[in-house]
Amino acid sequence: MSYQYQENLALDAQQRYSVKLKLIGLDICPYKVPADTWINDPKQWPAFEYQDVFHYLIKHPRTHFFLSGWVQTVFHMKTDSGHYVLKADVKPSWGVTDEPHHPWVALKKSGPVIAAHCNCMAGLRETCSHVGALLFKIEAAVRLGYTSSTCTDRPCEWNALFCKER
Ligand SMILES: [Zn+2]
Repeated sequence: MSYQYQENLALDAQQRYSVKLKLIGLDICPYKVPADTWINDPKQWPAFEYQDVFHYLIKHPRTHFFLSGWVQTVFHMKTDSGHYVLKADVKPSWGVTDEPHHPWVALKKSGPVIAAHCNCMAGLRETCSHVGALLFKIEAAVRLGYTSSTCTDRPCEWNALFCKER
């Protein structure tokens, strides 16, 4: 990572980066913090839990920067081999003019991910933030009961609105 990382960003990205650093109370870019300042001691880490991941990735898309933002309606199809492909447009967290990305994931009926992809640069490695956001939305739907056949709570409306109005 370049020591001059921040300086080499485009101007708008540089501004967002400055806002972020200010938000966490840092005067200098973490990439510039000297190596002997970093501590290796998990016992001092915050009590970070699964729900924190969830909140960061999905419930507050406007407050984070790395992750994707708005997962639109999730659509799915069944393949000949009985697997499920789910896809959604994922809009960037900022800039309404930015084009949405197009991640898709392939799941076994029992849950596990078989494959994933996205048309963004990082998506070529199958682990971009858009894929992550899509997976989290699917997981949330299951956990909140929206995928149950006995659900009476308008799952399709939830699917369309989830995240968009947070
Ligand atoms: Zn992506």
